[in-house]
Amino acid sequence: MGSLGVAIGVSWGMSNASMEIRLRHAEMHIHKPAEPATATVVKNEACTAGKKAAGFVRHIELDLSGTGLAGKCIPGQSLGILAPGVDGNGRPHKPRLYSLASPTRGEDGHGAVHALTVKRLIDENPADNSLFLGVASNYLCGLGVGSKVQVSGPSGKRFVLPVDAGAHDFVFIATGTGIAPFRGMLMDLFAGGYKGEITLIMGSPYATDLLYHGQLAQLAQEHANFHYRTAISREANAPHGKMYVQDRLAAEWPVLESQFASGRALVYICGIAGMELGVFQQLARALGPGVLEQYLELDPEAAGNIDGWTRAMIHRQVRPTRRVFLEVYA
Ligand code: NAP
Repeated sequence: MGSLGVAIGVSWGMSNASMEIRLRHAEMHIHKPAEPATATVVKNEACTAGKKAAGFVRHIELDLSGTGLAGKCIPGQSLGILAPGVDGNGRPHKPRLYSLASPTRGEDGHGAVHALTVKRLIDENPADNSLFLGVASNYLCGLGVGSKVQVSGPSGKRFVLPVDAGAHDFVFIATGTGIAPFRGMLMDLFAGGYKGEITLIMGSPYATDLLYHGQLAQLAQEHANFHYRTAISREANAPHGKMYVQDRLAAEWPVLESQFASGRALVYICGIAGMELGVFQQLARALGPGVLEQYLELDPEAAGNIDGWTRAMIHRQVRPTRRVFLEVYA
C-alpha cells in the first residue's frame, strides 16, 4: 500500500478506538471537465455471473497512458465520463461519475489501465411510458475497443483504504455495481500481503446478476482470510430465504462479532442508499455498549427504538462515525 496518508482521523474517547485512521493519499481533479483526458477503450465485456442476467453490466477498461491520470488513481476514487452531445438545454453533458474497479497497479500492472463497472440505465418515462436510456451508461457500454473517451478526475478521497490496512479487519458491503471499489481494494490488500480478516457481503437481485463472481470466488479460494458472502434478494439463499445485505450481516455475526469487539473492524458500504438503514439497524442491534459508539452515534430517541428507525433519521439521529465509510446513491 502507498506510504503517503491524509490524516482525517479522529480522536476517540474510548481506549481501543483512540487510534487515528489515516487514509491513503488520493490525488484529486488532475483533469477537470473543461480539460479532460482522452482515454482509449481496451476492453469491454459483460461482468455478470450468468448469461441471462436481469441487468446489463459491463467491465470497461480504459487506457489512460499519456494522460495525467496514469498512475494516479486508487480504489475508492471515481472518474468522470463526458458523453458526447448536449443535454435537453443544449449544454454539453455534465460528467457522470463511475467508481474505479481496478487496483492501484491497474489492469496492466503499471496503473495506466483502469476499469469501470457500468450498468446500462434502462427505464420507462412515467409521464408517457416512453423508453428512457441513461446517457453516459449506454454510451460507455456501447463503445468498442479502440474508441476514444473524454475523462475527468480522479475524484473522491474519503472512501479509500487506510494507510495502515494491516491494523484493521474489513467488512465490505456492496449492492449491485457498488462492488466496483471493493474489487480494486481486495486486489491491493492481497498484493500488499494483508493478513487480517476481510468479509465481503455482495447483494444482488438474482444470482445471475452477481458481478465479478468468478474472480471473487477464486480470491476466496486462494485466501483463507477472505470471506465472500452473497445476499440474493429475489431468490432463496440456501439455507436462508431471500436476503438483503443486512440479513447476511446478521447471519455472519457470530464470526464478525469479535472483529468489532476488538476495535479492528472498519465498515465500507457502497451501492444503493436504501441499505444504510438496514445495515445500521443491524449494527445497532448487534453491537453492545462501548462498541456501538465506535461505529454509530445515536440520539437518545433513536437508541430507544431501533426497530422504529426511518430513512429520514439516518445521518440526523443515527450518525455513522469515521469507522463507517459510505459511498451510496439513491
Ligand atoms: P442491483 O443490481 O439492482 O442490486 C441492488 C440490490 O440491493 C438488490 O438485491 C436490491 O434488492 C437490494 N436492495 C434494494 N433496496 C435495499 C435496501 N433498502 N436494503 C438492502 N438492500 C436493498 O443494483 P444496481 O442497479 O447495480 O445499483 C447499485 C447502486 O449503487 C446504484 O444506485 C449506483 O448508482 C450505486 N453505485 C454507487 C457507486 C458509488 O458510490 N461510487 C458505485 C457503484 C454503484 P431488490 O431490488 O430485490 O429489492
